[in-house]
Amino acid sequence: MRKIIIAGNWKMYKTIPEAINTVNSVKAGLHKVSDVEIVVCPPFTAIHTVAGLLEDSVVDLGAQDMHYETEGAFTGEVSPLMLKDIGCRYVILGHSERRAHFKESNDLVNKKAKGAVKFNLIPIVCVGETLAERESGRQLDVVRAQFAGTFKGFTAEDMEKVVIAYEPVWAIGTGKTATPDQAQEMHAFVRSLVQEMFGEETASGLRILYGGSVKPDNTAELINQLDVDGALVGGASLKAESFVQIVNAAVQAVVSKE
Ligand code: PEP
Repeated sequence: MRKIIIAGNWKMYKTIPEAINTVNSVKAGLHKVSDVEIVVCPPFTAIHTVAGLLEDSVVDLGAQDMHYETEGAFTGEVSPLMLKDIGCRYVILGHSERRAHFKESNDLVNKKAKGAVKFNLIPIVCVGETLAERESGRQLDVVRAQFAGTFKGFTAEDMEKVVIAYEPVWAIGTGKTATPDQAQEMHAFVRSLVQEMFGEETASGLRILYGGSVKPDNTAELINQLDVDGALVGGASLKAESFVQIVNAAVQAVVSKE
């Protein structure tokens, strides 16, 4: 049984006082969540503070991006060593906003994912098609190409340390969610790609999250899908109340999935 993950991506939101407020409210709102892994990914400026607040909690810490080198003359960048040092367990890589606004290629995401695995950080690697790509029926080809480029040179052992997030670009921050069937179709497809490249055992253990306008009222129907192993949540993770509701909906869905 793959353990469900609910990860919150705070993007470029929250000052330190706001981050403290949100984390304290999330902690206060969570009860009995042993069946679900919970992650928050604050902006870099709040990571240290949030790390301290999470020390005595079930919530794990993640970052939203990193450089692939351990250290060096890369002004403005943060390395996997630094993320490990500050207490991160996860790092989001290849988010569509980074691919679109910062021109991140599959090749760059590949280097970052290798850097993360080397430092025992769990990369949450994002893939997903744009609206134009879906409307022209190319979504499977697009995701196949992202997958092949991103995991080039990975071994099955590396792959076992990875989480994938399927995030259709047309559903991110738009209020449009993929239907449970659309999500399941793509998740099953991604799992089949893992199987082709890395074998059945790796494929059946690999967690694939859905991301794109996940909210408390659509969480259960998404997580109830066979190949959906959790959610990467943007907007709805910014408010403690809705994030906690999503976690609670996931806990209920796990019970009914078992
Ligand atoms: C995201 O940022 O990864 C995301 C899925 O955003 P939203 O939930 O706001 O669509």
